[in-house]
Amino acid sequence: MTLVPPPRWPLALAMSLLGGALVGLLPLQEMFARAGLRPGWGIALMVNIGLPLASIFVAVWYPRVWTSLVLGPLTVLGFLGTRMLFKEPRFWNWSVALLIQVSHPVLLAAAIGCSGLAVVASMAVGPWRRVGIPDTGPRCAGCGYPLTGNIGGTCPECGAKTAAS
Ligand SMILES: [Zn+2]
Repeated sequence: MTLVPPPRWPLALAMSLLGGALVGLLPLQEMFARAGLRPGWGIALMVNIGLPLASIFVAVWYPRVWTSLVLGPLTVLGFLGTRMLFKEPRFWNWSVALLIQVSHPVLLAAAIGCSGLAVVASMAVGPWRRVGIPDTGPRCAGCGYPLTGNIGGTCPECGAKTAAS
């Protein structure tokens, strides 16, 4: 069991933005066009395979349900950022019209789908990887009851004598 320190959540959110941006950088559209295939398939591959994989990767790295829920929208946002940079590298000229131009309704579905997969992935790795802090407090030698703050000298659970902490 690996415990991931809880304060790493901002890093997880930043990673999903970056992951989406990296998927947007893949030159699949151009590769498909060069191979005589429809460039749209390249985009479809990025949206249907690349973005979910990026979300799942972050969800496994930081397996917590509430962060996983926002991974989908963040990954899609990162992806949109790169696509907009391709259309207009001068980001100070970005407009709502441009955003609408690079957006597609399927991205909304992708955001929801990516979050869903991320939640499933974060729960699936539960037995091996979890977000939490290691439990290092004293425990009763007899029954395992946590004795942090116990001053009575006896375990409240089983009554065994304990070394008073
Ligand atoms: Zn006990």
